[in-house]
Amino acid sequence: MINSRAFIYGLSLSALLAVPMSFSAQTMKLSAEQQLAREIFQQLIEINTTDSIGDCTAAAKAMAERLKAAGFPEEDVKVLGPNPRKGNLVARLHGTGTRKPILLLAHIDVVEAKREDWSFDPFKFLEKDGYYYGRGTSDDKAMAAIFIANLIRFKQEGFKPERDLIVALTADEEGGDYNGVEWLLKNHPQLIEAEFGLNEGGGGAIRNGKKLFNSVQASEKVYQSFRFEVKNKGGHSSRPTKDNAIYYLAAALGRLAQFDFPVNLDEVTRAYFERVSKLESGETATAMKGMAQKPPNARSVAYLGNIPSYNATMRTTCVATMLEAGHAENALPQTARATVNCRILPAKTADQTRETLVKVINDSRVTITPIKEPKPSPLSPLSAEVMKPIEAVTEQMWPGVPVVPVMSTGATDSLYLRKAGIPIYGTSGIFHDIDDSRAHGKDERIGVKEFYYGQEYLYRLVKAFAYANSNQRQAAGK
Ligand SMILES: [Zn+2]
Repeated sequence: MINSRAFIYGLSLSALLAVPMSFSAQTMKLSAEQQLAREIFQQLIEINTTDSIGDCTAAAKAMAERLKAAGFPEEDVKVLGPNPRKGNLVARLHGTGTRKPILLLAHIDVVEAKREDWSFDPFKFLEKDGYYYGRGTSDDKAMAAIFIANLIRFKQEGFKPERDLIVALTADEEGGDYNGVEWLLKNHPQLIEAEFGLNEGGGGAIRNGKKLFNSVQASEKVYQSFRFEVKNKGGHSSRPTKDNAIYYLAAALGRLAQFDFPVNLDEVTRAYFERVSKLESGETATAMKGMAQKPPNARSVAYLGNIPSYNATMRTTCVATMLEAGHAENALPQTARATVNCRILPAKTADQTRETLVKVINDSRVTITPIKEPKPSPLSPLSAEVMKPIEAVTEQMWPGVPVVPVMSTGATDSLYLRKAGIPIYGTSGIFHDIDDSRAHGKDERIGVKEFYYGQEYLYRLVKAFAYANSNQRQAAGK
């Protein structure tokens, strides 16, 4: 029998994969494609794209110049945005148009970084002891550099995908007032219209030097804070009464502290527990297996509920994060206020969450009001069309390393696209030590080998997606 997996899912995976990764970890002799990716990566790191003084437009333009120099026509390479410093790049490699395009998304803005906080200049690309250092090396300029390098490689190969490949490098994911994805969806939706897309949010997990799994982020929790507030007429503290705003608020927060939202798994989080159970051992493995059952086993819920990351995966969470009350040491408080930050499961709404909080607090003296509008987004379905190529390329590159769907407990720009009806999957093939995350922090870095493996992974994966459907049709004899 022929390799049915490769045949069904695509690609001439076998042909693609006949060529092994052509570098050795010790010598790091880079191929021409790797050299190009490195140069692009360095260029992006050394263009400061912070919100305070950086310039995303400069980074977007630098990438546009590279694409044009590689033969992309002017009309397929656009830099546009609402503010002179907040430009976004949208570039397109035309396919045959048999299928709808794929969107390859990365943000080019970075979190602030102070020279005095770092061991070296955060805006100078540095290779040291097997790592590339610099602000943005892991979040998210590696993916941006890889998408540009691979697009150029596709062009040079004369690759004709069955669908257009769109690369969008955008501003203000990390903050700032000009989120590029939101702006493009509002002002130029046709430029990034796609059947589905890839973004940050996933990646490979390493622990103690061992590759654990390759994650695919398919959903995100919704961020929503609420203000708890109690008003009171107050008075002189020398004649206190039991009627006290601080006591009412404190009692309400006490009830919140005792409360757990119900467990509610969806296809993404159930698949997560099911697959990670096979990587764990002992009691955790047993608990995860029980968690993946329908309905989840009560002992599993109790056990995993004590581990913050698993607890956050299985339920909505709301936690008191800020407190302010009273106006003078010698006065009864007239106002007591708390901020409660919730991370809501994608299947639930902010209104439902508020209703639950009202019931739990059960005190009409405590008003509960949302702070800012929530940005809910649906999960991206784990369809075979998307998951099978990811699994096939992962198995080819890292045999035995499983693909694990994940829900982010934080947020990425994928939420805007999911909300607009474009499923987005966070996957990079870039492995990081999960106990040493430096994104947003000091001495941010990425493994040198991991960077090039990520490049190869995204090259193969995008090719697989670009071919997948025609092979399925051929297989079906149409
Ligand atoms: Zn990011």
